Amino acid sequence: LYPLLTRIANRAEAAPDALAITDVPHGVTVDYRSLAHDVVRLAVDLVDAASPAPGTDLQEQRVAILCDKGYLVPLSLLSIWAAGGFALPVLASLPLAEQRYLIDNADCALIICDRANRHRADELAGNKPAGSEPCNVLEMSLERIREPRDDLPDPQDSAKLLLSRPQIDGERRAMMLYTSGTTGRPKGAVTRHSALSAQVESIVTAWRWTEADNLLHILPLNHLHGICVALLPSLWAGAHVELWSKFDGQAIWKRWINEDRRVPVTMFFGVPTVYSRLITAHASLSPDEQVAATKGSASLRLQVSGSAPLPVSVKAAWERPGGVGGGQVLLERYGMTETGLIATTGWENDKRVGGYVGNPMPNVEIRLFDLDTNAVVDTADTPGEVQVRGPGITKEYWRLPDATAKEFIDGWFKTGDIAERCGAAGPAHNMYHILGRNSVDIIKSGGEKISAVEIERAILELPDIQDAAVVGVADEEWGQVVAACIVTSRAQLTLEQLRNELRSEIASFKLPRKLKVVDVIPRNGMGKIQKKQIVEQQFGPEA
Ligand code: ATP
Ligand code: MG
Repeated sequence: LYPLLTRIANRAEAAPDALAITDVPHGVTVDYRSLAHDVVRLAVDLVDAASPAPGTDLQEQRVAILCDKGYLVPLSLLSIWAAGGFALPVLASLPLAEQRYLIDNADCALIICDRANRHRADELAGNKPAGSEPCNVLEMSLERIREPRDDLPDPQDSAKLLLSRPQIDGERRAMMLYTSGTTGRPKGAVTRHSALSAQVESIVTAWRWTEADNLLHILPLNHLHGICVALLPSLWAGAHVELWSKFDGQAIWKRWINEDRRVPVTMFFGVPTVYSRLITAHASLSPDEQVAATKGSASLRLQVSGSAPLPVSVKAAWERPGGVGGGQVLLERYGMTETGLIATTGWENDKRVGGYVGNPMPNVEIRLFDLDTNAVVDTADTPGEVQVRGPGITKEYWRLPDATAKEFIDGWFKTGDIAERCGAAGPAHNMYHILGRNSVDIIKSGGEKISAVEIERAILELPDIQDAAVVGVADEEWGQVVAACIVTSRAQLTLEQLRNELRSEIASFKLPRKLKVVDVIPRNGMGKIQKKQIVEQQFGPEA
């Protein structure tokens, strides 16, 4: 049995009535006893539906999960693991073509779906590329899972049954998560059970997660953030997670106010755009509600931002005394699909410094590497590629041996992100500062390397700027030039004005040479700016 399942079963034994998951959209609440029982039950169905031979387990067969966000997603994940399978969570709201890419690429043997996604699942299972294995569909519902069966233990005995299972090799593949596709086609990063446990345990330790916590979970359940950072550590800690299906800023504030006195929320995680949207939603509350909402936010024990750089202006607006977040100091963390979390700002409020992602997570080592000279960077304030080592890091991209080989150097995983370590004395001393992805955020102009992320930060500090993206645009003379896309409430903003306003903040060779004022900056579901799209649509030959 894998450590996470062991922990859940132990919790079910010790505190069967403790709440594990509340599925808000479907109105379902599950305690640890029922969770253990449902896992045992669904695992039996899974083996029936997909086992390669009678009586064996799933032997790392790929099982896709295609369910609306809710209890059935974590239940499927855990059951696939209990049955020895290899899980691929797929977002139900993705367009058909994107789902097809994931399911075909992973070569799934089975799709677990709920009623709402049955039609889609049949479509995906039916139209397989030539030469691939057949794919079955298993539709399930909580009613079906809970139907009494003679051949299964009573609910109170399920945890014991799980605990009596033999230890399984931690090197088995557990889950495939696809990268966000910011720099190219999404790649399937394979997480093995040992790596998954290492990632999850590291987070529980770093953020002092306990049984008493209740996480308000608004993230999609198909990426690292929603699954490995938010959902699984909660179950590992024996805590409670409240799943919400979609972002609703006003509803989140009202939940924090907690007028109906439900289990109080203690933790909340979001991507940076979630915090800016919450700031806007706060303004739409009545004056009394605003005061109560700010107080409610202040009562949480932890609010975290990650997946993209948190603008210092958003952090400051949240934390200003009497400000919307009630003085909550946002913790920022940095990670990627292939590695789990890499760095986090500190536990003490004064160690959560804006613009920095902090220090390595427990069990992660970081080094910076100069890609031009092929040498480790030991000096502070000198940029280098972030390379990481540790038990949580993936060993392979699914069926991409060449891409896998390129990602490693001397046993270190190459993140593709460029960062500096802060040398100045003070709270940020030794913390890492991300300059962006080498391929899309580091603009190579006239022999200089310019961080788009730094320029975005400076632009966002200017008055009446709502959003900004900086990209490198191909140029005959300079190689690339700095181009800015800006959302502003000003009646007019010219390139000359922008350059003048930025002059005191950034060196003149970094000043934008092109400007487009736009209505919206395109971002994906994880708040990541779609830079390739911006270059093509705003600054391409057709633009
Ligand atoms: P792909 O690899 O397919 O191009 P992606 O790198 O965006 O897409 P993810 O694994 O979801 O896919 O995202 C990881 C990246 O997100 C990191 O490499 C880093 O560039 C960025 N990132 C995550 N957290 C932060 C943060 N706090 N600050 C800055 N960047 C961050
Ligand atoms: Mg990446």
